[in-house]
Amino acid sequence: MKNCRKWDPLDPDDVEFGRYERALIDVENEMQRQDDKWGPQDHPDIVWLAVLTEEVGEVAKEILERRSGGGFDLRKELVQVAAVSVQWLMAMERAERGEQFKVPLS
Ligand SMILES: [Mg+2]
Repeated sequence: MKNCRKWDPLDPDDVEFGRYERALIDVENEMQRQDDKWGPQDHPDIVWLAVLTEEVGEVAKEILERRSGGGFDLRKELVQVAAVSVQWLMAMERAERGEQFKVPLS
């Protein structure tokens, strides 16, 4: 891709790596917040889809509210979409292996 800068995940001074790391940390923190709030989350796919769709809807709401001068939580809402997506991926793997959610050791 032209003008596409390749970043180096092993270079701690790489600006794009910093952005990547910040995004992942935000997603991890949101996943922890969701675990604390909702407890174990092993749902059927249709429930995960409903949860994810609700979160995507909140992203759309933020964008529309920005157009009218509000909506300052777009990043937060996008992090929630990513966190729910990762939670769903992890739940799928647990289901495939016949495992249950385990609360992480703190
Ligand atoms: Mg949300």
